[in-house]
Order: sequence, then structure tokens, then C-alpha cells
Amino acid sequence: MRLVILGGPGAGKGTQAQQLCSNLSIPLLALGDILREAIASETDLGKLAMPYVETGELVPDATMIQFIRRRLLLWDVFNGWVLEGYPRTAFQGEELDFLLSDLAQQLDWAIWLKVPTEVLLSRSIERDRSDDSPEILQRRLDLYHEQTLPIVDYYEHRKKLLIINGDQSPEQVQQDILKVVNSH
Ligand code: AMP
Repeated sequence: MRLVILGGPGAGKGTQAQQLCSNLSIPLLALGDILREAIASETDLGKLAMPYVETGELVPDATMIQFIRRRLLLWDVFNGWVLEGYPRTAFQGEELDFLLSDLAQQLDWAIWLKVPTEVLLSRSIERDRSDDSPEILQRRLDLYHEQTLPIVDYYEHRKKLLIINGDQSPEQVQQDILKVVNSH
């Protein structure tokens, strides 16, 4: 199973993706976490990504797709994966499709955790993370509206979109995801 999880900052992507991976026994590729780890350990990717992550901007597409390509070629993701945090724009969605067709792989579903903006905002404020200051949070929310929502249309158009109500308890959200993924 190859899945993408979509949602705004605070939508519960990380939690849901983690549980989904353990329920389906497939690895998780969480791009935000991978970038933060790369920055902390000062790898080449980390050095490239740092100025963007620290200001809430998106890391350039070329850097991201190069990294994803190398990562999807490793043996541990051969049988499936959940991608969280990528793609984040319709352009990245197209790039991912090109890459997958190159690798003779296919995405099964894009799962959108739909959560009202005011809930995203209040949930994100409760989190305590260095890249979650009010200005950066607002910037991340703006980017979500400008860039990530069009990707929802992109997958809907390709009949790959599953919409899940993310404004429920984490357990209920996970149950809903498993139900739709298993019934398609
Ligand atoms: P996240 O934890 O998923 O919100 O990601 C934290 C930060 O990592 C974002 O604010 C971006 O700077 C960077 N990032 C994560 N995923 C991507 C992506 N797909 N494209 C570009 N930048 C990304």
C-alpha cells in the first residue's frame, strides 16, 4: 500500500500516519521530521533545508524530489510506504507521480484529514515546537491554504482522494481511515 497523508499544521497527520504505518506494517516517511533530524545532525540535506524550515518556508522542490527519489530507492520501502508532509503543493504531487511512474510504482490513495482552520490554529498553538512561533504558524497556515489545498483538487481529479473528518478523537480518525482504505 502506498499512501499520502494531507492536512494542515495541527491536523493530526503525524499521529495518524504513525498509527497507520503500525496498523498496516509499512514504513513512515515523515518529511518534516526527516528535515528536522537532518538539520540537527548537520547533514548536506539539513544544511540546505535549515533556512527554510526555520522560517516556515517550503524547502525548494528540487531539493525535496532529489531526496525522495533516493529514499524511495532503498529496499525498506519496496513494498509500500506512507508519505507524510510530501507532496505539499500540486507541483510536488505531479513530481511524485512522475517519479513513481519512473520507479514502476503507483500511489494507492491520498488521505485528506479535513479540519476547520480555527481548530488547526488552536491545536497548533498548544504544541511546543521551535518552528511554531505565532508568525511562523500563521505563515504555515497561509502556505497550507495557498499551496496544499490545490493538491486536494489534484488528487480528487485523479480519483485518488479519500476525505476523512479529522475533527474527531485520534482513535476515531484512525478507525475511519482504516475503514475507507480497507473498503476500496
Ligand atoms: P512539517 O513538520 O511537516 O510541518 O514540516 C516542517 C517544515 O519542513 C516546513 O515548514 C517546511 O519548511 C519543511 N517541509 C516539510 N515538508 C516539505 C515539503 N514537502 N516541501 C518543502 N518543504 C517541506
